[in-house]
Amino acid sequence: MSRLRCQGALQLADELQAWRRSLNAHPELSGREEWTAHFVAEHLREMGYTPVEGVGGTCGLTADLRIDDGPLIALRADMDALPIEEETGTQYASTNPGVMHACGHDAHTAMLLGAARLLRQRESELKRSVRLVFQPHEELFPGGASAMIAGGALDGVGAIFGIHVCTNLRIGELGTRTGPFMAAVNPFKLLIRGQGGHAAMPDRCVDPVVAAAHVIVALQTVVSRSIAISEPAVVSVTQLQAGTADNVIPNEVALQGTIRTLDERVRNHVCERVGELARGVAQAHRATADVEICPGYPVLANDEQMTGRVLEAARAIGFEPGDLLTLAPQGVGEDFAYFCHKVPGAFVFLGAANEAKGCSYPHHHPCFNIDEDVLPWGTALYAQLARGLAQA
Ligand SMILES: [Zn+2]
Ligand SMILES: [Zn+2]
Repeated sequence: MSRLRCQGALQLADELQAWRRSLNAHPELSGREEWTAHFVAEHLREMGYTPVEGVGGTCGLTADLRIDDGPLIALRADMDALPIEEETGTQYASTNPGVMHACGHDAHTAMLLGAARLLRQRESELKRSVRLVFQPHEELFPGGASAMIAGGALDGVGAIFGIHVCTNLRIGELGTRTGPFMAAVNPFKLLIRGQGGHAAMPDRCVDPVVAAAHVIVALQTVVSRSIAISEPAVVSVTQLQAGTADNVIPNEVALQGTIRTLDERVRNHVCERVGELARGVAQAHRATADVEICPGYPVLANDEQMTGRVLEAARAIGFEPGDLLTLAPQGVGEDFAYFCHKVPGAFVFLGAANEAKGCSYPHHHPCFNIDEDVLPWGTALYAQLARGLAQA
Protein backbone atom coordinates (compact mmCIF):
# COMPACT_ATOMS: atom_id res chain seq x y z
CA MET A 1 0.00 0.00 0.00
CA SER A 2 1.35 3.38 -1.01
CA ARG A 3 2.03 5.96 1.68
CA LEU A 4 2.02 9.68 0.93
CA ARG A 5 5.43 11.31 1.41
CA CYS A 6 4.49 14.98 1.27
CA GLN A 7 4.19 16.58 4.68
CA GLY A 8 2.90 19.82 3.20
CA ALA A 9 -0.05 18.10 1.56
CA LEU A 10 -0.78 16.01 4.64
CA GLN A 11 -0.84 19.17 6.77
CA LEU A 12 -3.42 20.64 4.37
CA ALA A 13 -5.75 17.64 4.72
CA ASP A 14 -8.35 19.41 6.91
CA GLU A 15 -8.44 22.47 4.67
CA LEU A 16 -8.71 20.32 1.54
CA GLN A 17 -11.61 18.43 3.07
CA ALA A 18 -13.38 21.68 4.05
CA TRP A 19 -12.95 23.11 0.53
CA ARG A 20 -14.14 19.91 -1.10
CA ARG A 21 -17.18 19.73 1.17
CA SER A 22 -18.12 23.37 0.47
CA LEU A 23 -17.84 22.70 -3.26
CA ASN A 24 -19.76 19.43 -2.88
CA ALA A 25 -22.59 21.28 -1.16
CA HIS A 26 -22.71 23.92 -3.93
CA PRO A 27 -22.62 21.99 -7.22
CA GLU A 28 -23.27 23.89 -10.44
CA LEU A 29 -24.15 22.65 -13.90
CA SER A 30 -21.81 22.94 -16.88
CA GLY A 31 -21.44 26.53 -18.00
CA ARG A 32 -23.00 27.97 -14.83
CA GLU A 33 -20.10 27.64 -12.39
CA GLU A 34 -20.31 31.23 -11.08
CA TRP A 35 -20.32 30.39 -7.35
CA THR A 36 -17.49 27.89 -7.83
CA ALA A 37 -15.38 30.33 -9.87
CA HIS A 38 -15.89 33.02 -7.23
CA PHE A 39 -14.93 30.53 -4.48
CA VAL A 40 -11.71 29.65 -6.33
CA ALA A 41 -10.85 33.27 -7.18
CA GLU A 42 -11.31 34.41 -3.57
CA HIS A 43 -9.06 31.67 -2.21
CA LEU A 44 -6.40 32.31 -4.87
CA ARG A 45 -6.39 36.02 -4.03
CA GLU A 46 -6.08 35.23 -0.33
CA MET A 47 -3.00 33.12 -1.20
CA GLY A 48 -1.48 36.05 -3.07
CA TYR A 49 -2.35 35.10 -6.66
CA THR A 50 -3.85 37.42 -9.24
CA PRO A 51 -6.37 35.18 -11.01
CA VAL A 52 -7.55 35.95 -14.55
CA GLU A 53 -11.30 35.37 -14.48
CA GLY A 54 -13.79 34.69 -17.26
CA VAL A 55 -11.14 33.23 -19.59
CA GLY A 56 -12.54 32.82 -23.12
CA GLY A 57 -15.94 34.08 -21.98
CA THR A 58 -16.38 31.07 -19.68
CA CYS A 59 -16.52 30.75 -15.88
CA GLY A 60 -12.94 29.42 -16.13
CA LEU A 61 -9.97 31.07 -14.50
CA THR A 62 -6.22 30.84 -14.59
CA ALA A 63 -3.54 31.98 -12.17
CA ASP A 64 0.20 32.09 -12.78
CA LEU A 65 3.14 31.61 -10.47
CA ARG A 66 5.96 33.19 -12.46
CA ILE A 67 9.61 32.56 -11.71
CA ASP A 68 10.90 33.33 -15.21
CA ASP A 69 9.72 34.01 -18.78
CA GLY A 70 10.16 30.39 -19.88
CA PRO A 71 7.35 28.04 -20.86
CA LEU A 72 4.81 27.38 -18.14
CA ILE A 73 3.70 24.06 -16.72
CA ALA A 74 -0.08 24.02 -16.61
CA LEU A 75 -2.10 22.09 -14.02
CA ARG A 76 -5.79 21.65 -14.81
CA ALA A 77 -8.84 20.92 -12.66
CA ASP A 78 -12.45 20.90 -13.87
CA MET A 79 -15.25 22.41 -11.78
CA ASP A 80 -18.72 21.43 -13.03
CA ALA A 81 -21.37 19.07 -11.64
CA LEU A 82 -24.18 16.97 -13.14
CA PRO A 83 -28.00 17.07 -13.35
CA ILE A 84 -28.47 14.27 -10.80
CA GLU A 85 -30.38 14.32 -7.49
CA GLU A 86 -27.84 13.38 -4.81
CA GLU A 87 -28.66 10.36 -2.62
CA THR A 88 -25.48 10.04 -0.55
CA GLY A 89 -27.12 11.33 2.64
CA THR A 90 -23.88 13.03 3.75
CA GLN A 91 -23.92 16.22 5.84
CA TYR A 92 -22.14 18.02 3.02
CA ALA A 93 -24.50 16.77 0.29
CA SER A 94 -25.76 19.08 -2.45
CA THR A 95 -27.91 22.01 -1.37
CA ASN A 96 -28.79 22.64 -5.02
CA PRO A 97 -31.77 20.38 -5.87
CA GLY A 98 -31.24 18.13 -8.88
CA VAL A 99 -27.54 18.99 -9.19
CA MET A 100 -24.70 16.92 -7.79
CA HIS A 101 -20.92 16.54 -7.89
CA ALA A 102 -21.24 12.96 -9.10
CA CYS A 103 -17.94 12.90 -11.00
CA GLY A 104 -15.58 14.27 -8.34
CA HIS A 105 -14.80 17.61 -9.99
CA ASP A 106 -15.24 19.18 -6.53
CA ALA A 107 -12.24 17.11 -5.44
CA HIS A 108 -10.19 18.24 -8.46
CA THR A 109 -10.90 21.90 -7.68
CA ALA A 110 -9.99 21.44 -4.00
CA MET A 111 -6.81 19.50 -4.88
CA LEU A 112 -5.61 22.19 -7.28
CA LEU A 113 -6.35 24.92 -4.70
CA GLY A 114 -4.25 22.87 -2.29
CA ALA A 115 -1.42 22.75 -4.82
CA ALA A 116 -1.74 26.52 -5.26
CA ARG A 117 -1.20 26.90 -1.52
CA LEU A 118 1.76 24.45 -1.43
CA LEU A 119 3.49 25.98 -4.46
CA ARG A 120 3.15 29.45 -3.00
CA GLN A 121 4.66 28.28 0.29
CA ARG A 122 7.55 26.60 -1.51
CA GLU A 123 8.01 28.95 -4.44
CA SER A 124 11.79 28.89 -4.09
CA GLU A 125 11.84 25.19 -5.08
CA LEU A 126 10.20 25.86 -8.44
CA LYS A 127 12.29 25.30 -11.54
CA ARG A 128 9.57 26.40 -13.96
CA SER A 129 6.71 28.89 -13.93
CA VAL A 130 3.30 27.40 -13.28
CA ARG A 131 -0.21 28.10 -14.55
CA LEU A 132 -3.22 26.85 -12.61
CA VAL A 133 -6.18 26.19 -14.92
CA PHE A 134 -9.62 25.93 -13.31
CA GLN A 135 -11.87 24.80 -16.15
CA PRO A 136 -15.67 24.86 -16.26
CA HIS A 137 -18.11 22.93 -18.44
CA GLU A 138 -16.37 19.57 -18.86
CA GLU A 139 -19.42 17.30 -18.70
CA LEU A 140 -21.18 18.75 -21.72
CA PHE A 141 -19.99 19.28 -25.28
CA PRO A 142 -18.57 21.68 -26.55
CA GLY A 143 -16.87 21.81 -23.15
CA GLY A 144 -14.90 24.58 -21.48
CA ALA A 145 -11.42 23.55 -22.59
CA SER A 146 -11.61 24.75 -26.20
CA ALA A 147 -13.15 28.09 -25.19
CA MET A 148 -10.43 28.60 -22.56
CA ILE A 149 -7.74 27.74 -25.11
CA ALA A 150 -9.25 30.30 -27.50
CA GLY A 151 -9.15 32.76 -24.60
CA GLY A 152 -5.40 32.23 -24.13
CA ALA A 153 -5.31 29.63 -21.34
CA LEU A 154 -2.45 27.78 -23.06
CA ASP A 155 -0.51 30.83 -24.24
CA GLY A 156 3.09 30.35 -23.11
CA VAL A 157 2.39 26.83 -21.81
CA GLY A 158 4.89 24.04 -22.58
CA ALA A 159 3.17 21.08 -20.92
CA ILE A 160 -0.10 20.32 -19.16
CA PHE A 161 -1.29 17.78 -16.60
CA GLY A 162 -4.76 16.77 -15.46
CA ILE A 163 -5.94 14.50 -12.66
CA HIS A 164 -9.29 12.71 -12.34
CA VAL A 165 -10.33 10.92 -9.17
CA CYS A 166 -11.58 7.44 -9.95
CA THR A 167 -13.76 5.02 -8.01
CA ASN A 168 -12.71 2.15 -10.29
CA LEU A 169 -9.32 2.31 -8.55
CA ARG A 170 -8.78 1.95 -4.82
CA ILE A 171 -7.26 4.70 -2.75
CA GLY A 172 -3.47 4.67 -3.14
CA GLU A 173 -3.53 3.54 -6.78
CA LEU A 174 -2.82 5.61 -9.87
CA GLY A 175 -3.70 4.59 -13.40
CA THR A 176 -2.87 5.96 -16.82
CA ARG A 177 -1.41 4.94 -20.16
CA THR A 178 0.71 6.39 -22.95
CA GLY A 179 -1.09 7.24 -26.19
CA PRO A 180 -4.85 7.03 -26.74
CA PHE A 181 -6.37 6.91 -23.25
CA MET A 182 -9.92 8.24 -23.49
CA ALA A 183 -12.33 7.88 -26.36
CA ALA A 184 -13.58 10.21 -29.06
CA VAL A 185 -17.31 10.76 -28.64
CA ASN A 186 -19.93 11.22 -31.38
CA PRO A 187 -23.58 11.24 -30.35
CA PHE A 188 -25.95 10.49 -33.25
CA LYS A 189 -29.64 11.08 -34.01
CA LEU A 190 -31.67 9.13 -36.54
CA LEU A 191 -35.17 10.01 -37.67
CA ILE A 192 -36.82 7.13 -39.53
CA ARG A 193 -39.76 8.43 -41.54
CA GLY A 194 -42.51 6.21 -42.89
CA GLN A 195 -46.17 6.72 -43.47
CA GLY A 196 -48.51 6.18 -40.57
CA GLY A 197 -52.03 4.85 -40.49
CA HIS A 198 -54.29 2.23 -38.94
CA ALA A 199 -52.40 -0.60 -37.29
CA ALA A 200 -54.93 -3.04 -38.70
CA MET A 201 -53.94 -2.07 -42.28
CA PRO A 202 -50.12 -2.12 -42.40
CA ASP A 203 -50.33 -2.77 -46.16
CA ARG A 204 -51.48 0.83 -46.56
CA CYS A 205 -48.64 2.23 -44.42
CA VAL A 206 -44.85 2.40 -44.44
CA ASP A 207 -44.13 1.22 -40.91
CA PRO A 208 -41.18 3.17 -39.47
CA VAL A 209 -41.20 1.00 -36.31
CA VAL A 210 -40.21 -2.13 -38.22
CA ALA A 211 -37.69 -0.15 -40.26
CA ALA A 212 -36.19 1.30 -37.06
CA ALA A 213 -35.95 -2.17 -35.52
CA HIS A 214 -33.98 -3.38 -38.56
CA VAL A 215 -31.77 -0.29 -38.40
CA ILE A 216 -30.93 -0.99 -34.74
CA VAL A 217 -29.99 -4.58 -35.56
CA ALA A 218 -27.98 -3.49 -38.61
CA LEU A 219 -26.00 -0.99 -36.50
CA GLN A 220 -24.70 -3.91 -34.42
CA THR A 221 -22.71 -4.95 -37.49
CA VAL A 222 -20.80 -1.68 -37.85
CA VAL A 223 -18.13 -2.73 -35.37
CA SER A 224 -18.34 -6.50 -35.88
CA ARG A 225 -18.24 -6.42 -39.71
CA SER A 226 -16.30 -3.32 -40.72
CA ILE A 227 -13.70 -2.65 -38.01
CA ALA A 228 -10.47 -4.60 -37.66
CA ILE A 229 -9.80 -6.75 -34.61
CA SER A 230 -7.06 -4.34 -33.52
CA GLU A 231 -9.30 -1.26 -33.37
CA PRO A 232 -11.60 -0.54 -30.41
CA ALA A 233 -15.01 0.97 -31.25
CA VAL A 234 -18.48 1.07 -29.72
CA VAL A 235 -21.86 1.91 -31.28
CA SER A 236 -24.76 2.04 -28.79
CA VAL A 237 -28.39 2.93 -29.51
CA THR A 238 -29.66 4.40 -26.27
CA GLN A 239 -32.96 6.16 -26.99
CA LEU A 240 -35.98 5.18 -29.00
CA GLN A 241 -39.19 7.19 -29.33
CA ALA A 242 -42.19 6.09 -31.37
CA GLY A 243 -45.92 5.97 -31.39
CA THR A 244 -48.87 7.14 -29.34
CA ALA A 245 -51.40 4.28 -29.39
CA ASP A 246 -51.62 0.51 -29.86
CA ASN A 247 -53.77 0.85 -32.97
CA VAL A 248 -51.75 3.53 -34.75
CA ILE A 249 -48.69 3.04 -36.93
CA PRO A 250 -46.75 6.27 -36.40
CA ASN A 251 -45.26 8.44 -39.10
CA GLU A 252 -41.77 8.43 -37.66
CA VAL A 253 -39.39 6.97 -35.10
CA ALA A 254 -36.57 8.89 -33.41
CA LEU A 255 -33.41 7.06 -32.34
CA GLN A 256 -30.37 8.37 -30.53
CA GLY A 257 -27.09 6.82 -29.53
CA THR A 258 -23.37 7.27 -29.19
CA ILE A 259 -20.20 6.27 -31.03
CA ARG A 260 -16.89 5.81 -29.17
CA THR A 261 -13.56 5.34 -30.93
CA LEU A 262 -9.85 5.75 -30.19
CA ASP A 263 -8.51 6.70 -33.61
CA GLU A 264 -9.56 9.49 -36.01
CA ARG A 265 -9.58 7.22 -39.06
CA VAL A 266 -11.75 4.64 -37.32
CA ARG A 267 -13.93 7.45 -36.00
CA ASN A 268 -14.62 8.71 -39.52
CA HIS A 269 -15.26 5.22 -40.84
CA VAL A 270 -17.72 4.30 -38.06
CA CYS A 271 -19.61 7.60 -38.45
CA GLU A 272 -19.85 6.99 -42.20
CA ARG A 273 -21.09 3.39 -41.78
CA VAL A 274 -23.76 4.38 -39.23
CA GLY A 275 -25.16 6.82 -41.79
CA GLU A 276 -24.92 4.39 -44.72
CA LEU A 277 -26.59 1.54 -42.86
CA ALA A 278 -29.37 3.66 -41.40
CA ARG A 279 -30.23 5.17 -44.80
CA GLY A 280 -29.87 1.89 -46.70
CA VAL A 281 -31.86 -0.27 -44.28
CA ALA A 282 -34.61 2.34 -43.97
CA GLN A 283 -34.83 2.50 -47.75
CA ALA A 284 -35.07 -1.30 -47.97
CA HIS A 285 -38.24 -0.94 -45.90
CA ARG A 286 -39.54 1.92 -48.07
CA ALA A 287 -38.82 4.39 -45.27
CA THR A 288 -36.20 7.13 -45.13
CA ALA A 289 -33.62 8.01 -42.49
CA ASP A 290 -32.39 11.48 -41.59
CA VAL A 291 -28.96 11.01 -40.06
CA GLU A 292 -27.22 13.49 -37.81
CA ILE A 293 -23.79 12.55 -36.50
CA CYS A 294 -23.08 15.15 -33.83
CA PRO A 295 -19.64 16.49 -32.97
CA GLY A 296 -18.05 15.45 -29.69
CA TYR A 297 -14.75 15.42 -27.81
CA PRO A 298 -11.75 14.01 -29.71
CA VAL A 299 -9.48 11.21 -28.50
CA LEU A 300 -7.43 12.10 -25.44
CA ALA A 301 -3.90 10.92 -26.19
CA ASN A 302 -1.26 11.09 -23.47
CA ASP A 303 2.19 12.22 -24.51
CA GLU A 304 4.79 9.53 -23.82
CA GLN A 305 7.31 11.82 -22.17
CA MET A 306 4.67 13.58 -20.05
CA THR A 307 3.19 10.26 -18.93
CA GLY A 308 6.69 9.32 -17.81
CA ARG A 309 6.91 12.57 -15.84
CA VAL A 310 3.66 11.78 -14.05
CA LEU A 311 4.91 8.34 -13.04
CA GLU A 312 8.19 9.89 -11.87
CA ALA A 313 6.29 12.47 -9.81
CA ALA A 314 4.00 9.73 -8.41
CA ARG A 315 6.99 7.66 -7.25
CA ALA A 316 8.54 10.77 -5.70
CA ILE A 317 5.49 11.39 -3.49
CA GLY A 318 5.23 7.78 -2.31
CA PHE A 319 3.38 5.62 -4.84
CA GLU A 320 4.74 2.07 -4.80
CA PRO A 321 5.55 0.58 -8.23
CA GLY A 322 2.77 -2.01 -7.75
CA ASP A 323 0.19 0.76 -7.31
CA LEU A 324 1.04 2.47 -10.61
CA LEU A 325 -1.25 0.80 -13.12
CA THR A 326 -1.22 0.80 -16.90
CA LEU A 327 -4.89 1.04 -17.80
CA ALA A 328 -6.67 -0.08 -20.94
CA PRO A 329 -8.10 2.73 -23.12
CA GLN A 330 -11.36 4.04 -21.67
CA GLY A 331 -14.70 4.37 -23.47
CA VAL A 332 -15.56 7.66 -21.78
CA GLY A 333 -14.65 11.03 -23.26
CA GLU A 334 -12.90 13.98 -21.59
CA ASP A 335 -12.35 17.48 -22.95
CA PHE A 336 -8.81 17.58 -21.52
CA ALA A 337 -8.22 16.07 -24.99
CA TYR A 338 -8.23 19.59 -26.48
CA PHE A 339 -5.36 20.67 -24.23
CA CYS A 340 -3.37 17.58 -25.27
CA HIS A 341 -3.91 18.46 -28.93
CA LYS A 342 -2.18 21.81 -28.35
CA VAL A 343 0.68 20.98 -26.00
CA PRO A 344 2.22 17.74 -24.71
CA GLY A 345 0.15 16.58 -21.80
CA ALA A 346 -0.85 13.67 -19.60
CA PHE A 347 -4.07 12.79 -17.82
CA VAL A 348 -4.21 10.34 -14.92
CA PHE A 349 -6.75 8.58 -12.74
CA LEU A 350 -6.21 8.74 -9.01
CA GLY A 351 -7.81 5.95 -7.00
CA ALA A 352 -10.55 7.21 -4.68
CA ALA A 353 -12.55 4.05 -3.94
CA ASN A 354 -12.88 2.66 -0.45
CA GLU A 355 -15.60 0.10 0.05
CA ALA A 356 -15.34 0.31 3.85
CA LYS A 357 -16.32 4.00 3.63
CA GLY A 358 -19.12 3.39 1.12
CA CYS A 359 -17.10 5.02 -1.66
CA SER A 360 -17.27 2.54 -4.48
CA TYR A 361 -20.26 3.71 -6.54
CA PRO A 362 -19.52 4.46 -10.19
CA HIS A 363 -19.15 7.99 -11.50
CA HIS A 364 -22.44 9.73 -12.38
CA HIS A 365 -24.35 7.60 -9.80
CA PRO A 366 -26.64 9.36 -7.24
CA CYS A 367 -24.63 7.71 -4.40
CA PHE A 368 -21.20 8.55 -5.87
CA ASN A 369 -18.68 9.62 -3.23
CA ILE A 370 -14.92 9.52 -2.81
CA ASP A 371 -12.55 8.59 -0.01
CA GLU A 372 -11.35 12.07 0.95
CA ASP A 373 -7.91 10.63 1.75
CA VAL A 374 -7.35 11.09 -2.00
CA LEU A 375 -7.28 14.88 -1.61
CA PRO A 376 -3.72 15.21 -0.19
CA TRP A 377 -2.52 12.71 -2.80
CA GLY A 378 -3.93 14.84 -5.60
CA THR A 379 -2.55 18.05 -4.14
CA ALA A 380 0.88 16.45 -3.68
CA LEU A 381 0.88 15.09 -7.23
CA TYR A 382 -0.07 18.43 -8.80
CA ALA A 383 2.59 20.18 -6.73
CA GLN A 384 5.26 17.57 -7.50
CA LEU A 385 4.51 17.82 -11.23
CA ALA A 386 5.11 21.56 -11.03
CA ARG A 387 8.20 21.26 -8.86
CA GLY A 388 9.80 18.22 -10.43
CA LEU A 389 9.90 19.38 -14.04
CA ALA A 390 13.13 21.15 -14.82
CA GLN A 391 12.35 20.92 -18.50
CA ALA A 392 9.72 19.40 -20.72
ZN1 LIG B 1 -18.21 12.88 -15.51
ZN1 LIG C 1 -15.30 13.93 -14.77
